[in-house]
Amino acid sequence: MRGLIKFIIAILIAAVSLVTYWCNTEQNEFTGEEQHVDMTVEQEIALGLQAAPEMASQYGGLHPDQEAANRIKEIGQAIVQQTAAGKSPYKFDFHLLADEQTVNAFALPGGQVFITAGLLKRLNSEGQVAGVLGHEIGHVVARHSAEQLAKAKLTQGLTGAAAIATYDPSNPASRTGAIAAAMIGKLLNMRYGREDELESDRRRCA
Ligand SMILES: [Zn+2]
Repeated sequence: MRGLIKFIIAILIAAVSLVTYWCNTEQNEFTGEEQHVDMTVEQEIALGLQAAPEMASQYGGLHPDQEAANRIKEIGQAIVQQTAAGKSPYKFDFHLLADEQTVNAFALPGGQVFITAGLLKRLNSEGQVAGVLGHEIGHVVARHSAEQLAKAKLTQGLTGAAAIATYDPSNPASRTGAIAAAMIGKLLNMRYGREDELESDRRRCA
């Protein structure tokens, strides 16, 4: 009996997660892609602005070289103005991070874009800088963060359901089922991540 109740609860959790995910579907105005997001553009912008100082502090904060930082902003804004990104409701801003060791660039939802000094010094031309920033702008316009959040929620719901369904308190070995479920969830999100990278490269937000 307890097994049955456990099973029903697991099915319910899985069903609610799936319905929530699939019902939150809208067409991306700029990429034309049908996507699953459950936040508004305004929420994306607010989330990005809220997270920006935290993200910057993880990479040594903003770079003290004001001139270099301004150049990054100029290159970024030039791309925005020359592409469809300029017609999007996103508020783009470009930040040079002080971290010399880390080679990285990323975008928060809503238009906050970051590049580390470590990556910048590896780039040989402004064209290459523009390439990196353009790729990040592509993530913003394609709403990849919002998609990731919706997918993470779905995965969480499904792995939670799988964990409940396979867990047997009298059999500690059943924990491996829960662990396997969590790993499948991670793999799912990783695969989506790579697709997003390819999409961002393909579209270059043109
Ligand atoms: Zn990327």
